[in-house]
Amino acid sequence: QCSAHCPVGAIYEKDDTKKVWNALQDPKKHVVVQIAPAVRVALGEAFGLEPGTIVTGKIYAALRRLGFDAIFDTNFAADLTIMEEATEFVHRFTKGEELPLITSCCPSWVDYLEKYFGDMIPHFSTAKSPQMMMASMIKTYYAQKKGIDPKDIFSISIMPCTSKKYEITRDEHMFSTGQQDLDVSITTREFSRMIKQAGIDFLNLSDEEPDNPLGMYSGAGTIFGATGGVMEAALRTAYNMVTGEELGTVEFEQVRGLEGIKAAEIDIKGTKVKVAVAHQMGNIETVLKQIQAAQKAGEEVPFHFIEVMACRGGCIAGGGQPYGATDERRKKRIAGIYKDDEGQKIRCSHQNPYIKALYDEFLEKPGSHKAHELLHTKYVDRPIYQR
Ligand code: SF4
Repeated sequence: QCSAHCPVGAIYEKDDTKKVWNALQDPKKHVVVQIAPAVRVALGEAFGLEPGTIVTGKIYAALRRLGFDAIFDTNFAADLTIMEEATEFVHRFTKGEELPLITSCCPSWVDYLEKYFGDMIPHFSTAKSPQMMMASMIKTYYAQKKGIDPKDIFSISIMPCTSKKYEITRDEHMFSTGQQDLDVSITTREFSRMIKQAGIDFLNLSDEEPDNPLGMYSGAGTIFGATGGVMEAALRTAYNMVTGEELGTVEFEQVRGLEGIKAAEIDIKGTKVKVAVAHQMGNIETVLKQIQAAQKAGEEVPFHFIEVMACRGGCIAGGGQPYGATDERRKKRIAGIYKDDEGQKIRCSHQNPYIKALYDEFLEKPGSHKAHELLHTKYVDRPIYQR
């Protein structure tokens, strides 16, 4: 947002749309795109719609008009992230291994942790973010299924986040094919400009569907876009992994809303799981300091599982979304996210049939050796600032 405020215009927004236009015009490239959960409840604002209006079907239609060869949904990969992260949590929790487990799908938070809290890296989930899991599956599973050389695939993401541009080049642990898995990441704002530049009548597009096998998502996948969503999605699946049963009510209201730190005790058939959700850096630091204090005093840590997002409200108010994120606007976008969840026939990641097929055909099972090679990463202590 600096470009709007810099008095001399020396700081400007990084615009990668030219790379996307070039790829779309290259006949040798198979151009694949994914859209993040939070984009669908904010993009409409660029076309005069109310914050929180769900425009997923119009987005798929616009992407087809722009000429993408395959249209996938990051929400599918959010389901995949949950399979890996819930497996990691249940394993650590039941085997008494290092807790709390802390989520790692926000690249701004990952960067902050490596610089300021490197001693907490063992607590970090090794699961890649949905963006990077999708990128890996496009250049491996999808490429293999379609018989395309991964080098001929140009992979693009549309994200609510400017940090996602940094995440795609983070380090070699993010590359599962020996090259950069994701070629370009653009923001919701850049995408809205592309639709306008192409002269697409966005508001009058009829809804369309994404492509498979990486397009269909559950309600759990879509709530990743709001603070508390990753935790709630993980709990829906962790419950099934621990008990072998399905939840009657899938909503975990305790982790929803804009309160900076949300703490809850979740009962999984008599076992108490203590969780916390923190968003905005100041709140995150408060929770981390509580953990460090308990560890130093040799006491039991106050939480078993923590979700962290750098932006207030989560990705619905990320740095790449339409400008002007007030709390009122955040609440409307969040309401859109939960409405999208309620509208899905399948509400839990482990019930997504395409997720099941992906494991059966390619990844074997959650947490397998192959899943670790392709879907997990490493973190590095980089104390460039004084602690
Ligand atoms: Fe990006 Fe903000 Fe979401 Fe983190 S919380 S992934 S910085 S949009």
